[in-house]
Amino acid sequence: MTSDPDSTVAIIGGGPAGLMAAEVLARNGHTVTVYEAKPSVARKFLRAGIGGLNITHSEDYSLFCTRYGPAQPQLQAMLDHFPPTALRAWVESLGITTFEGSSGRVFPEGMKAAPLLRAWVQRLRGLGVRFQLRHRWTGWNAAYALSFETPDGPVEARPQATVLALGGASWPQLGSDGAWVPWLQARGANITPLQSANCGFDVTWSEHLREHHAGAHLKTVALRFTDLQGKTHERRGELIISQHGVEGSLIYAFSRSLRETLQAQGSASFTLDLAPDRSPEQVLAGVQYPRGARSLSSHLKTRLNISGVKMALLWEVMGAQAATDPVRMARYIKALPITVNATRPLAEAISTAGGVRFEDLDEHLMLKALPGVFLAGEMLDWEAPTGGYLLSACLAQGRWAGEGVAAWLNQTS
Ligand SMILES: Cc1cc2nc3c(=O)[nH]c(=O)nc-3n(C[C@H](O)[C@H](O)[C@H](O)COP(=O)(O)OP(=O)(O)OC[C@H]3O[C@@H](n4cnc5c(N)ncnc54)[C@H](O)[C@@H]3O)c2cc1C
Repeated sequence: MTSDPDSTVAIIGGGPAGLMAAEVLARNGHTVTVYEAKPSVARKFLRAGIGGLNITHSEDYSLFCTRYGPAQPQLQAMLDHFPPTALRAWVESLGITTFEGSSGRVFPEGMKAAPLLRAWVQRLRGLGVRFQLRHRWTGWNAAYALSFETPDGPVEARPQATVLALGGASWPQLGSDGAWVPWLQARGANITPLQSANCGFDVTWSEHLREHHAGAHLKTVALRFTDLQGKTHERRGELIISQHGVEGSLIYAFSRSLRETLQAQGSASFTLDLAPDRSPEQVLAGVQYPRGARSLSSHLKTRLNISGVKMALLWEVMGAQAATDPVRMARYIKALPITVNATRPLAEAISTAGGVRFEDLDEHLMLKALPGVFLAGEMLDWEAPTGGYLLSACLAQGRWAGEGVAAWLNQTS
């Protein structure tokens, strides 16, 4: 067993939360080592940049904070300490301008993560942060040292303080695999089971729909869903018909409430409005309009702009019989019922719900059962929709944990 040279602080996990904690601590004059299992840091952050790195959101701050749902009270102080305006200023301090997209989402110039990460790692190296890559943390050994597996054999480290920023368990090929769950449970941490968030859902489609329409985007529909509390939510957007069911931004926005209903009831149903710009009366008038010799498909396309995957989905759910009744057909067009049977597996999800419960942590994100061990990022028990809310909270928690470690070291020395 090799002993790694002593750093004051070990940060385990080189994602956005861990790197932010490293920056804060290095700026405070502490020696910091970032231990990362993969050959390079922040692979999920880089992957997030492929579809356009949505770093935060510019909506009204009080609305922004509500996106964290039941975890808002636990996250509020951290968000207040590093709100979206501060986050944007931080990105700009790395030499990268930010801009607001039409929906209020905020992106770095060029929308990619790589230039931002390059500038950030360079800054961290300049601050003296040491990176130990291909160091996979495997828990604590019998002598309470941190244990790592490395290509050169086992390594141990004995820092004065540790920040665990190990991520959740979605997209495990990028490094975060949730392997830490039993190790922290063995140390007394209470962990809400890790589950899919911002994920797709299974729907039993016909062979025909799967074969001809999987991958098709269902553009502007309105999804209406009544949650377990009896509250009806409606939102417009886009979803994708997949081999297994449904996915895409509109579905992700409902993923928490759909998942909760699935857990309570075994299935969850919502309706889709295929013609959200038309009133029920207009849709009925369109369906009833004399169609002469035209087929029903070409009639619906001309009168109501329903064609392609929308038409296929309408047929799939409504069946041939309803197609002979204009009143029923118009109702289906305005409220097409879809039932989901399961969430897609966590490995496919954009993010992870569940994690270490906040009641196990003190106000600085230190584990009460393990003084000197702080936690940050997606491994904690919170979730948020897509829209920049995930990275915003991970960075705010990394900053908060870093400052918490600095205060704790100050106090204990
Ligand atoms: C496809 C995709 C697109 C996304 N797009 C966006 C977006 O546009 N906007 C947004 O806000 N969010 C987005 N996200 C989510 C965002 O990337 C995550 O919420 C964020 O990266 C979580 O940060 P983290 O630091 O908590 O964990 P991670 O980024 O998961 O980092 C944890 C790190 O810990 C390392 N690690 C894990 N276990 C060990 C171990 N045992 N030993 C050593 N190292 C270990 C991992 O290798 C990893 O590098 C996206 C996610 C995905 C998958």
